[in-house]
Formats: sequence, C-alpha cells, structure tokens
Amino acid sequence: MKPIATHIETHADEYLARLKHACAQPSISALNQGLDEMADMVSDMLHSLGFHVQIVPTDGAPVVLGRMAGTGERTLLLYNHYDVQPVDPLDEWITPPFKPDMREGNLYGRGTADNKGAIVSRACALEAYLAHRDTIPVNIVWVIEGEEETGSLHLGQFVAQHRDLLQDVYGCVWEAGGKNARDQYEIALGCKGLLYVELRARGASHDLHSALAATVISPVWRLLWALNSLKDADETIRIPGFYDAVRPISAAQRQVLADWDYPEEEARALYGLDTFLQGLSGDELKERLIFGPTCNVDGFHAGYGGPGSKTVLPCEASAKLDFRLVPDQTPATILALLRTHLDAQGFEDIEILADEGEHPSAGDPAHPFVQAAARTAQRLYGHVPACIPMMSGTGPVHVLCGQFGTPMVTAGVGYAGSMAHAPNEHIRIQDFIAGTQYIAALLDELGNTEP
Ligand SMILES: [Zn+2]
Repeated sequence: MKPIATHIETHADEYLARLKHACAQPSISALNQGLDEMADMVSDMLHSLGFHVQIVPTDGAPVVLGRMAGTGERTLLLYNHYDVQPVDPLDEWITPPFKPDMREGNLYGRGTADNKGAIVSRACALEAYLAHRDTIPVNIVWVIEGEEETGSLHLGQFVAQHRDLLQDVYGCVWEAGGKNARDQYEIALGCKGLLYVELRARGASHDLHSALAATVISPVWRLLWALNSLKDADETIRIPGFYDAVRPISAAQRQVLADWDYPEEEARALYGLDTFLQGLSGDELKERLIFGPTCNVDGFHAGYGGPGSKTVLPCEASAKLDFRLVPDQTPATILALLRTHLDAQGFEDIEILADEGEHPSAGDPAHPFVQAAARTAQRLYGHVPACIPMMSGTGPVHVLCGQFGTPMVTAGVGYAGSMAHAPNEHIRIQDFIAGTQYIAALLDELGNTEP
C-alpha cells in the first residue's frame, strides 16, 4: 500500500485542484440550479477513470451511474450526491461559496465537505490505485444522485430500474463521514427512519371575535389536546403499538455502543445545555441517541403572534411533527397507528398530512465488510474507529442498502467542525488526503480478504 499512499500525497495539489473545479460549479437541488451541468461534470470524471457511465434520468435530477469491473467476485457500491445545500446567509461567508479558497490548511467552499470532497477523493483514490495495480480487486457500482439535500425523492425510481445491480452487493461505502468532535475517525452503519406529518385542526369558517370562545370550538385547544395525547412528561410515546416493532439491540451493537467514547460534555457545551433530557448520561444517553425513536414537534402555528394583543379566536391551527424511527418501525405503520390513536382519543376532526417517509436501517458491527472497514481505519489513523450502528439523522440507506441486506459504512473527508450546510463550509486538507488513502486501502483490504 505504501506506494499508493505516497502517490496520493505527492498528487495532493492536483487532486485538490480537481475538487476546487467541482466546487466552483453551483448545484443546489433546492433551487434546481446547475444540476445537469454538475451531473455532466461528475460523469466526465468517472469516464476518465475508465468507468462505464450512464446519466440516468428521473422525474427529478439525473442519477450518475458508473460501473467498473474488477478481478474478484464481490461488488462494492459507492454512494454519493453531487447536489449541495443553498448558501444563505451569503454575507456570513468569508470567501464566496462557489469560489473555493485554500487558507490555513483548509479548503473552503460549498460542497467541500458535503459531498463533493468525498466524490473527488474516491475518484482520486481509484486513480492512484490503478496507477500502481493492473486492476481493482472488486467490481464497483457507483451511484451519484442529485437530490440528497432535498430528501432523495426520486432515488427510489432509479433503484426500481436497477435492482439487478443492487441486490448482490457485498458492501456499500456511504456518501460522507470523517472525524468526530474528539478527532476520532467515525464509521456509521445505518440511519434512523423518518415520518414527517402535519396535523391540522379547523374551527369556524374564518377567524372570530374571541368573545365567541364561550360558544365556539377552538381549533387551537383541539390541536394542543391532541398533541398532549401523543407523549407523556416521562418521554413515553403514548400511541398504542408505537414500540411494538422495535427490534432489540444485538450484542455486537451493544458492544460498539459501550466502546464508543461519546463526547458528552463537549456536546452539552455545544448545545448550550446544563443537562441532557431526563439527566441522561453514559450508556443510557448513547442508547437513546442511537436507538431511541422520537416524536418531535418541529413547529406550531395558530392565531396572533405579533406585537401587543389581539383578541381573536383563530379558525385554524397546525403543527408539524417528525418521528425518527428505528428498526423495524416503518413510516406507513406509524402513520396508521397515529390515525387510530387520534380517532380513539376523539380527535377524528384532526387532519393528518404526511409524505412517504423513510425506513430505518441499522448495521451489524460484526459483518465482515464492516470489520474490514474498521481494520483499514485503525491501520491508517492509528486508533480504533468509533463505530455507530445507526446515525441519529436520516438518509436513503434503506432504499439503496437496507432492503437488499447490504451492509454500509460511512467514509468521508469531513470533521465535526466542517460547517456542512452552513456558511464557511470547509475541509482540512490533511483529512482529504487521509480520506483518499483510506478508500485506496479499503480496496486493498477487500482484495486481501476475497473469499
Ligand atoms: Zn448534506
């Protein structure tokens, strides 16, 4: 591996120039800006590496699909996204978001961490690998979508058309990752699912004088009472059946949780909190963070909130809620349970608006692919990586991997301070070089453990 790792170091300037080029192309999915141009650029990048490339249209942004045959039986799936988040607030950027700028050992620009840094890093790792070896030891299927930042709405369409490519994959390297707040390399193996709903209560045909509160129903109180029925003050979610499908935590998952040195104090300081919910700490805190399903109120809207007073009986109230789901809860089941619960509590009048949601997917730390990824990280970074069975956030893991039983590991070039989604997004150049060496080393590791 030494010559490949050295190759990556000596070509770092060239690789970073490619990343700057990729980050200079705006590709904001929320604004439908620059997506076709970015898909073309990514496609060219894969093509020059020797990939067989297709730009697959969907009802949204196109998906770039690259395939490369290797010597072994196994297929490695790489998943990335070429879209980025909007750049507001623009005046907080020290240098313009789409004019990548290198300073103090960092590269600043929208997309450097999330997710173009990982795309370019993987491409460069493959190039360096092939400069020193005749072939790659695994077949590669590389899926790069353009709607991750807006919820991957059309990735399912792509998957439905390419099930044959995805159902026999040995392992998947997920889009992003890197170093945590303790500068420890972190590998996540899945993510929570999500059900997002809006609850709506309606009363009179229009807002009324609040004197009529004596005789007219208030949708605001209706909605408050309905919300109050969802969760107890002890944090138990009261929707009957909500916890029924929750799968017990496996012994291997419990072990990696116990080994995980979660930066509890740093996290509390970062959030400006004196204590976590219910005074949670240690193993209990980690378990709740990774394996706890949630019912969260994102927003509540009703009536008058302006200056002074306005005596009004609003005709409408609405609340947005998200449920983070864990295996084997599904968005459709939880939605049905929510409806049944509201009806049973006498809230038939509360309307639920919901989208499809995302299924949860947790990983098995004992899987040989995960072990290979962890061994590689330990060799490269010099410490045992933190292993997280499930990210507390949500992504399309189930769509690409979970439904096919494919294990996944995160790998990226970011760190806890990368400011992804925020102004002054950046990566540390050292992390970019190490992340590139990691992908090349992982290829070698998979080759060495070929069955
Ligand atoms: Zn993102």
